[in-house]
Amino acid sequence: MDRRHFFKSSLALAVAAALPYSRASGAGTAQLSVSDLQALRSALRGALLLPGEVGYDIARRVLIDTIDRHPALVVQPSGAADVRTAITFARERDLLLAVKCGGHSDAGFGTCDGGLQLDLSSLRGVRVNAASRTAYVAGGSLLGELDHEAMACGLVTTAGTVSHTGVGGLTLGGGYGRLARRFGLAADNVRAVDLVTADGQLLHASEKENADLYWGIRGGGGNFGVVTAFEFALHPMQRQVIAGSLVFPFSRLKELLTVYAEFSSHAPDDLNNDFVVSMPAGKDGVVVFSIVYSGAAARAESLLAPLRKLGTPIADTIKAKDYVALQRSGDKTDPRTDIRHAHTGFVDDFNRGLIDALAGGLTPHPQRDATLFFQHGGGAIGRVRPGATAFPHRRATHNMIFNVSWPRELESAPHIAYSDQLWNQLSRYTDGFYSNEVIDEPASVVEANYQGNLARLRVLKKKYDATNLFRLNANVRPVAA
Ligand code: FAD
Repeated sequence: MDRRHFFKSSLALAVAAALPYSRASGAGTAQLSVSDLQALRSALRGALLLPGEVGYDIARRVLIDTIDRHPALVVQPSGAADVRTAITFARERDLLLAVKCGGHSDAGFGTCDGGLQLDLSSLRGVRVNAASRTAYVAGGSLLGELDHEAMACGLVTTAGTVSHTGVGGLTLGGGYGRLARRFGLAADNVRAVDLVTADGQLLHASEKENADLYWGIRGGGGNFGVVTAFEFALHPMQRQVIAGSLVFPFSRLKELLTVYAEFSSHAPDDLNNDFVVSMPAGKDGVVVFSIVYSGAAARAESLLAPLRKLGTPIADTIKAKDYVALQRSGDKTDPRTDIRHAHTGFVDDFNRGLIDALAGGLTPHPQRDATLFFQHGGGAIGRVRPGATAFPHRRATHNMIFNVSWPRELESAPHIAYSDQLWNQLSRYTDGFYSNEVIDEPASVVEANYQGNLARLRVLKKKYDATNLFRLNANVRPVAA
């Protein structure tokens, strides 16, 4: 259906009849008329999608299958100009605004009910300048595009472990990955951004220009505007890395936790060692050391010697692997369709108390899957001062994630109770959490998690987004509550 036809159609009338939309915050009622929508359509080069139109349902959905929200309208911008138009349109009509890049946010921040969804999937592309070791990345790109283009030039930067995650959300909130201990967080590798602020201005932010914004977007999430382009620092790296898993029986959990605490705390920056305790429903659990060594291959075996001393594993998949293929290897393993209950927290000190709490509390169950995951931190991440960027959690050596899931037809209460009780024991060993893993924490908890950087973030928020237009994120409110 072309534009002209749409505005004459009964669908248009149906849309008009459904308006006005109440803003989800309850802070005001937005009036949208057919002429408003018509004006928006003609101002855009990209698409405006309304309920029922082709593409609307694909756009509004996010990774988590159980999140099923219906924005009043979706804008798929063709560039920064359309982003400015959409932001201005939302602000002037007091519409709730959701920004979607890869759609991976656990809270479903990339979509909304009744508001305007800015779907950046139309804004993808990566260009590499090998001479200056810079990647120019459009604001809606996915990690896989960045890995692929950079490695074709023998270069890399830190990116997360699932290639269809958005560069936007992952980077702005921090950005852990297999190379983060070596090259820092994804956010630490941002040299500059182009960003559209709440007043519709397109600003460049770098160390030299709008330095306050440049500070804030590196860890402050989507609080300050929509990034239409990133510039990332790239680093030379060989294509082949030594990577894979050593899998041991669950019965050795306590011993293996003890070894992991020691081994991961003393690893060199180019050795990333995540640790997984996997307890599938009704099956024997396993404990996995997941290794990625990106240094000189000849050194790998001597570095892994402490793990080799653990005896013959159930499985050993460690070998030379293509880094980009490795980055894609987990793409199909996270369907996120079951009911899930997750807890996350940063660990600064992997001590005996934590090991005992885990060894005593992790128990396989016939009906639920449970996974305890330690994402390896430290290294270069920890050599940045907590106040140098908006991401404060620099002392963390591990990101601990505990995930329980069960089939939809089962009663949830016992599984939630198990998860909450165990986390009660574990949380005393944590210090803050990764704001990219926010689900439904109270606003005050989300804000307090910015720790010593909160006051400065609030000043920035007041300057660039005083009405909190960008609020579907790990939100910083412009004034203290
Ligand atoms: P979206 O839901 O699209 O966006 C989330 C929010 O980010 C938006 O609502 C908006 O506030 C903001 N945002 C996104 N793009 C822009 C932009 N261009 N401008 C302004 N704001 C923007 N994290 C890690 O650090 N390392 C990992 O290895 C990792 N692996 C993951 C694997 C899976 C399967 C999943 C589901 C998550 C993983 N995460 C990881 C967490 C991830 O960082 C967050 O889910 C992040 O929000 C994903 O970004 P997105 O763009 O895909 O999400």
